Amino acid sequence: MQHELSLYNSLTRQKEVFEPLRPPFVGLYVCGPTVYNYAHLGNARTYVTFDVLYRYLKYLGYRVRYVRNITDVGHITTEFDAGVDRIGEQARLEMLEPMEIAHKYTVYFHWVLQQLNTEPPSIEPTATGHIIEQIDMVKKILSEGLAYEVNGSVYFDVQGYMKRFPYGELSGRNVDELLEHTRDLEGQEEKRFFADFALWKKAAPEHIMRWSSPWGDGFPGWHLECSAMSTKYLGDRFDIHGGGMDLKFPHHESEIAQNTACCGHGPVKYWLHGNMLTVNGQKMSKSLGNSFLPHELFEGSHELLDQGYAPMVVRFFMLQAHYRSTLDFSNEALQAAEKGYRRMMNAIQQIERLPPSKDSTVDVASIREACRQSMNDDLNTPMVVAHLFDAVRLVNGCAEGLQRITQDQIKELRHLFHDYASVVLGLRMEESEGADRSVTDQLMSLVLELRAEARSKKDFATSDKIRDSLAAMNIQVKDTKEGASWTHGN
Ligand code: AMP
Ligand code: ZN
Repeated sequence: MQHELSLYNSLTRQKEVFEPLRPPFVGLYVCGPTVYNYAHLGNARTYVTFDVLYRYLKYLGYRVRYVRNITDVGHITTEFDAGVDRIGEQARLEMLEPMEIAHKYTVYFHWVLQQLNTEPPSIEPTATGHIIEQIDMVKKILSEGLAYEVNGSVYFDVQGYMKRFPYGELSGRNVDELLEHTRDLEGQEEKRFFADFALWKKAAPEHIMRWSSPWGDGFPGWHLECSAMSTKYLGDRFDIHGGGMDLKFPHHESEIAQNTACCGHGPVKYWLHGNMLTVNGQKMSKSLGNSFLPHELFEGSHELLDQGYAPMVVRFFMLQAHYRSTLDFSNEALQAAEKGYRRMMNAIQQIERLPPSKDSTVDVASIREACRQSMNDDLNTPMVVAHLFDAVRLVNGCAEGLQRITQDQIKELRHLFHDYASVVLGLRMEESEGADRSVTDQLMSLVLELRAEARSKKDFATSDKIRDSLAAMNIQVKDTKEGASWTHGN
């Protein structure tokens, strides 16, 4: 029995009962995108994952401050910061200002997340808007003796840090393993130790994005922005930090080191990591060239797609996997998700037409309890979806007259789908579908009324014709004591 919310903590490598540091407040920080290019569907998966967490925490009554940054300084995002200015590069390519690039792709990112019905964070700070805070943090780490300046750049001293604090706890990597990941990158020769990382990088003359600092013109290291912004908005110890699995190392490990160097302890109680969206088993990524852009998926305009899929079908597809499992993209999987999503939406419409009985053969309360337990079990959304399908079957059974349901239970069903499908999972009825549906509903009421009239006049030829024509359209009409009802599809 899962009475309380438990979450898998990447730091302790186990599920833990969630106990916020300062209830009812919860601080949640999620690493945002680097806006030098279009956000792809893999990125979107991670933000849908944390949207469900945000929604569920609020549903449980917590007051959540959700901070999700925008990385608008274009450093390289692979292992060991080499100071490649990706936004600057893209700006040259598109002949735009770096800030035009950052804004253009931020707008796209917001559009995608809105299509996918994610809620906006409480604060969305940008790295370029927090240069002063980042410089202050570099000064603090220098004053603690855990960083050193070389030729206008400042590096974090990993060896010095390891003498005072454990390093590598989150990623489980030891220093010998780190050596394997070292590449001969720019700035490597300035470092005292291969695993040291840049806190501040001197800007080469051609580097467009630059700020003045006590160490000369330069720009902040990638890991620093999240330490500075999470501390500013959530404090030096907060509840949950999230991101994709690929950020554990070096990004999050470096964040922990920076924060610990500043204040003597790690910043986060629960570290949560979402798994990757894959294509044919390979991580979807811009650099591998296997990424779909969300709008291509919605429109069906990518060559590998058989058709377009509504954003809610895409969200439903994502929720059918647990966030800690990989999710492989395929046309077949999306088609199955489309069928499932439509079936659920049909059932939700159907609730309004269920004929209530005085007695009941169904149990709605146990389905609600199962949904609650599944969410509490480390946000097990595929199980929640499975339980909601139990409710779909129940609705269809009642519509077909195979089961009986009371008026109160119809209300319970309505609340169940409202709470878990809409509020927690964030599934909304597609707008066009909603509009079509209300017309369909009205037309079907008219048709059934005409059929009832024909029957009352003993005009069975007309009433049978209506029923048979509807059956040909895969619409089944059921006559019950309370009147006629209809269902569509299987
Ligand atoms: P980036 O803009 O590359 O820093 O990525 C933004 C977020 O998307 C990070 O939390 C990444 O971990 C996440 N991410 C990147 N690729 C994928 C993927 N294929 N599946 C899921 N999340 C991803
Ligand atoms: Zn981050």
